[in-house]
Amino acid sequence: MMHVRSQRSALWWALALVVAGCVPGTRDENGPGPPFGGGPPKRLGPGPMFGAATTSVKPARPITGGTLLALSDERTAIAADPDRDRIFVADYLASQVLADLALELIDRHALGRGPAPDLLAISFSSTDYVGHEYGPDSHELLDTYARADRELARLLAKLDAAVGAEGYALVICADHGAGEAPEKLISLGYDAGRLETGGGGGHRSKMGRDRRAIEQAMDEALGKKLGDDERWIAHFGDGEIHLDRARLKAQGVELRAAAEAACAALTKQRGIAAAFTKTQLLEGRFAPNDRVARALRLSTHPLRSGDVAFALKPFWLASRLTASHGTPNLYDQRVPLLWMGPGVPRGRVVDEAVTPADVAPTLAAMLRVEPPAGCEGRVLTQVIGRP
Ligand SMILES: [Zn+2]
Repeated sequence: MMHVRSQRSALWWALALVVAGCVPGTRDENGPGPPFGGGPPKRLGPGPMFGAATTSVKPARPITGGTLLALSDERTAIAADPDRDRIFVADYLASQVLADLALELIDRHALGRGPAPDLLAISFSSTDYVGHEYGPDSHELLDTYARADRELARLLAKLDAAVGAEGYALVICADHGAGEAPEKLISLGYDAGRLETGGGGGHRSKMGRDRRAIEQAMDEALGKKLGDDERWIAHFGDGEIHLDRARLKAQGVELRAAAEAACAALTKQRGIAAAFTKTQLLEGRFAPNDRVARALRLSTHPLRSGDVAFALKPFWLASRLTASHGTPNLYDQRVPLLWMGPGVPRGRVVDEAVTPADVAPTLAAMLRVEPPAGCEGRVLTQVIGRP
């Protein structure tokens, strides 16, 4: 996010509140979770995290004032019924209500009409939920996109009327692509499949077969035979394995040896393209041109990541959802990045690799302020039309 020195207000709006008929409240993005189950919604005002948003980088042109708004129809706790929330967001109406809220806030906060720039971030997340439920090529998702497009048109018309076409810049991007449902791909003759990594409540005999196979291969590699209610793997999912520290200790097995055993077992498993131990990734022990390893490395946090990371083969899925995302495969990794605004050349297609990480520094350059500290992207000079 753009660093804003002393913004007038910074709010995280939870659409669920509006839908539930509550007064919209703020939500601390880093907080323990939305507090609006049964209690009264919080009053409007800056959330505690935003006080810490000031960075040590001195802006070239200090911004004082300005509003930072983040809107989302991302699934949040709605009323007391979690299922209703899911049904609602997996519905085109969510984008419509979200756009209504954005339109209302543009007026209420007089966005774009003060002396300082305002930042409005909107996450149309229904597309994600509908994609998970029905698959990326489904009629349901095409319909959701068509309707989200209509909502964008309403938003642009509103901004044109409120601040004029030259009065704002717009960036549209996505945080991931998606893979198709493996069953559909199999029916079309692709090498595709679904990994069975379900937990089985701690009992090996009830685990998904792929998870069970890895547990057994680890027994063999480590020279230990665990019982049916014992397991090496505490968590298997989201492209990583977390080993059970207590089990390793009880069995007198070194973490490193167990991670290597799990890694070796994974690489022999169906549907797995590559696996690396966390240590291997952190130490950079992979070929420099290995783009899968590089992607896994970029996703690795020294403390929070699993002990082993893995990548699925194209068209394979390790989830019970109809379709999903989160692999380093190109259909999953590539996203659109669209820009419009003052100085942005009309109709230009940038024919080189860019990334959503370029959004923050490019917006900073447009506003003639320094980019946020720790910024990884670069300024897209092709977009802002000046070197
Ligand atoms: Zn998703």
